[in-house]
Amino acid sequence: MNFEQLIKNQRTFFNSNQTKNIGFRIQQLKKLKAILKQNEQLLYQAIYTDFKKSEFDTYTTELLLIYSEIDTALKNITNWAAAKKVNTNLLNFPSSNYIIPEPLGVTLVIGAWNYPYQLSLTPAVSAIAAGNTILLKPSELALNASNAIAKIINENFPSDYFTVIEGGVETTTEVLKQKFDKIFFTGSTQTGKIIYQAAAQQLTPVTLELGGKSPCFITKDCNLKQTVKRLAWGKFLNAGQTCIAPDYVLIDETIKDKFLQLLKEFIIKADYSIENNNYVQIINDKHFNRLTNLIDQNKIYFGGKTNKAERHIEPTILTNISFEDPIMQQEIFGPVLPVISYTDIDQAITQVKSMDKPLSCYIFTNNIKIKNKILTQISFGGGCINDTVMHITNHHLPFGGVGASGTGSYHAEAGFKTFSHYKSILDKPFWFEPNFKYPPYSKNKLNWIKKLIAK
Ligand code: NAD
Repeated sequence: MNFEQLIKNQRTFFNSNQTKNIGFRIQQLKKLKAILKQNEQLLYQAIYTDFKKSEFDTYTTELLLIYSEIDTALKNITNWAAAKKVNTNLLNFPSSNYIIPEPLGVTLVIGAWNYPYQLSLTPAVSAIAAGNTILLKPSELALNASNAIAKIINENFPSDYFTVIEGGVETTTEVLKQKFDKIFFTGSTQTGKIIYQAAAQQLTPVTLELGGKSPCFITKDCNLKQTVKRLAWGKFLNAGQTCIAPDYVLIDETIKDKFLQLLKEFIIKADYSIENNNYVQIINDKHFNRLTNLIDQNKIYFGGKTNKAERHIEPTILTNISFEDPIMQQEIFGPVLPVISYTDIDQAITQVKSMDKPLSCYIFTNNIKIKNKILTQISFGGGCINDTVMHITNHHLPFGGVGASGTGSYHAEAGFKTFSHYKSILDKPFWFEPNFKYPPYSKNKLNWIKKLIAK
């Protein structure tokens, strides 16, 4: 594909100013929602073929989030896109001062495979709402989902406005040679560095939505039954292939045994079986092999059964884990949960702080002191107190990482901001002109400046 020409066409379309019209943006958002709704069956089938993700999971963790993102944008776009008045300062009196949001231009969105619809189309919604053109590259690992997105978008939108290109590393490497006005990337920290470097060549602004090891603290004064339920749900959703899944547990030594027992009981009762549509496959053989290698057979408390042909790994709990174990050296991104106990919360916090800043952190506690200690002392993207994963579903909360887990954020207004430039304007009338800033300078003028401004 001739990417140079494609991007040139998008730039020409952007320069026609059509995307700056709010009515146009609203029309595109409505159209996107309508065509996704019309094609839901295709979307369900494609993702089921990729990793046996059920209709229930696909609707609740993918389509619902996209629809809600579109609805929120439709409801708020006029307000988000309006110029915002700000106060003037004495030095510039009289003038009006305002900030105008403007679209960045031609944008590139690169998606990850684990939630292939949501991670590709939610940023696209923000890009549309902010008035940009979009080149979208979903992940090649969820191939059928990528095909479905390409079919739906490319059959319904002109390529000089919104288009999907498909392919893997080679395609992305080629595309990244082009100049964009914004790159929005979701994927691993390792690939994030490659994207950042490519963007730097063109001074293109980036948003990087990356991964990492998200800790889950469980203190002795939590409600253990609720904790187990909410933790297990967030961990084994999508078979652990969730960027904000709790990666490992740090639990007070005194409640560890009870916790393990309850967690085991919950997993058995929840029926994490693919046949009953309560679970998904591991995306491919490479990740299946990586995960099975991380399961230390001597440390299995529960689970550990795998099926290579089905790419199935049952929910697995590992105990007697230390921070030196191989499983603590990388993001797990699968249904394996290491449980580490602590006797001193301060030591546990220090340990987490010595690692890369995580995308999420979860704290199960009724102890306000410990909650505040963790919230103040550990830097992380976002998270929940007494729950997991659910912060992603509140569009009032910007979503993103910090440090190695990402830069920038999105969802609702945060997404609109991510795809906008905020132009600051000082707007002055001609009728008043104090002369003290102009040469020739004098002691008297300086005194006036000091009196009026410096205080
Ligand atoms: P990945 O980095 O392998 O791939 C992401 C995208 O980058 C894909 O579209 C892929 O084609 C492309 N890509 C891969 N290698 C590339 C290269 N060398 N040059 C250019 N492009 C390249 O990530 P993944 O396996 O698809 O996703 C899993 C990772 O993404 C995990 O680390 C997870 O935590 C993270 N993730 C983060 C979020 C978030 O919102 N922060 C969401 C989902 C996944």
